[in-house]
Amino acid sequence: MRLSKMHIKTLREVPNEAEIPSHILLLRTGMIRKLVSGVYGFMPLGWRSVRKIEDIIRDEMDGSGAQEIHMSAVQPAELWEESGRWYAYGPELWRLKDRHGREFCLGPTHEEIFTDVVRNDVSSYRQLPMNLYQIQTKYRDEARPRFGLMRSREFIMKDAYSFDRDYEGLDVSYQTMYDAYDRIFKRCGLECRPVEADTGAIGGSNSHEFTALSEVGESEIAYCESCSMAATTERAECVDAAAQTDVAELDMEVVHTPGTKTIEEVANFLGLDQSQTIKALLFVTYDNEGKENGYVAAFVRGDRELNMIKLVNALNIPEHSIEFADEEKMGAVTGCVGGFTGPQGLHDCTIVVDSELPGLKNLCAGANKEDHHAINVNYGRDYTADIVTDLKVLKEGDPCPVCGAPVKHARGIEVGQVFKLGTKYSESMGAMYKDENQKDQPIVMGCYGIGVTRTLAAVVEQHHDENGIIWPMSVAPYHVIVTLVKPEDEAQAEAAERIYTELQKARVEVMLDDRKERPGVKFKDADLLGIPVRITVGKLAGEGKVEYKLRRESEKEEITIEEAIARAIEIVNAER
Ligand code: ATP
Ligand code: MG
Repeated sequence: MRLSKMHIKTLREVPNEAEIPSHILLLRTGMIRKLVSGVYGFMPLGWRSVRKIEDIIRDEMDGSGAQEIHMSAVQPAELWEESGRWYAYGPELWRLKDRHGREFCLGPTHEEIFTDVVRNDVSSYRQLPMNLYQIQTKYRDEARPRFGLMRSREFIMKDAYSFDRDYEGLDVSYQTMYDAYDRIFKRCGLECRPVEADTGAIGGSNSHEFTALSEVGESEIAYCESCSMAATTERAECVDAAAQTDVAELDMEVVHTPGTKTIEEVANFLGLDQSQTIKALLFVTYDNEGKENGYVAAFVRGDRELNMIKLVNALNIPEHSIEFADEEKMGAVTGCVGGFTGPQGLHDCTIVVDSELPGLKNLCAGANKEDHHAINVNYGRDYTADIVTDLKVLKEGDPCPVCGAPVKHARGIEVGQVFKLGTKYSESMGAMYKDENQKDQPIVMGCYGIGVTRTLAAVVEQHHDENGIIWPMSVAPYHVIVTLVKPEDEAQAEAAERIYTELQKARVEVMLDDRKERPGVKFKDADLLGIPVRITVGKLAGEGKVEYKLRRESEKEEITIEEAIARAIEIVNAER
């Protein structure tokens, strides 16, 4: 493609709202175009890279035996009511009505739709296993769309669904997808770490997220260098502090602790370590209609952090149906006092206590009285709970739940996730098959997503420098850019045309910068766009020589035109 003819607009200025490199660079290169918050279009170069990622995904999915279909983005509410997710999915579900008042949503994911296909089409064990996938636009009305393609409201996803006769079959399908994901992200040039993940609103038993390591990622992962434990911090199990079985229980006492609303303040005031205190977190919950339907008081050791995902899982409610409570309102019902809440004597609320607290003796907790705390608080004697379970966040340095070594933390971008769904959807929606004995059995399902457009952003996060993007060959919009320094110089123009045509003949994707721009502008643009190979045709063209440079390296070489062509073809074919 000739740049003089190409629809392309690069920006010198960094757009205001863009904070992270991928967002800034995708806008500056003109690859994406914002329409409204969280909704982007793709310009020619951006769309070429999206399609390259899609092609890699298709290649690996097809190679794994999956079959591509394409379902509608518009989904009838009835299917979501059948699975129970019309409510459970919450305000992220982009709902709409047709002219007759019938309800629909724009699909954020397609479990219901694929289950519907299969319950209609599959009847016998002979038709299983099967894996269907699509690459399609998804809609999620995210609370905080941000970072460009990272968290948008409209995005492209590859979603696949596997259908098996039994759980052994699911294990095989799951592993096949897991391995395919490994290859897909490697081929896209991403450094990824698969980690154990929470199954969230989608349901199911087992899941991994594929996380592209990056400082700007929104996922936090905990991993261990002594063993293979790796999990999102949402999911990671924690080791409870050892129970203090040999410590005598002292008498509980209420002490005056004026103005000590935080754990730090009360621990300092009483000369205690924060690990000798109990931290309270107060919540209100909502029903299907959005009406308040109860209060929850959660307690963890003072130096721990509450893990919201573990809490909602323990309560078995969707994440969007719980919020921090208005302490005064909650106090009037339950007896809690903001900043001075302890588990003793609370009423009319669900008390959830972290699993290590019952084993710890003589702790300090709020006394449910302004400016007072209770000391020597002990489980069983002074308080009990409705639920006792692991509620805490696994922090950096905490013992690994598998081997006990101190865990490390890293940040990353969730580019894909694989789930074992089991029979959640087949049972609720009646997707059955007849086994060898003509007995009805629920189909055992898995689902597998890749954020195509988020993957594009993740690639830019991992491959850029201060001058622009450095595309891996596999997903670069073009492989080679031929920079023609002086289009009006005959020798230069001729050499550039020759390289351009020869490379095209060799099926190399090549851009020819034949614009009437200053050379400085052309070099800057070439660096910004991040095309892997640059061949500069300048003064030496008359002698049959050009400058050859890889975007990822700083070294430039003057070589003959023939050699430049040969080298470009070779590297493109090796890395495409
Ligand atoms: P997140 O936790 O980041 O909100 P998710 O776990 O809800 O994502 P999934 O339901 O697993 O997402 O969707 C599959 C894939 O789709 C994700 O792994 C991610 O790559 C991509 N994805 C999800 N939400 C978005 C979004 N708002 N913008 C872009 N890509 C997204
Ligand atoms: Mg996910």
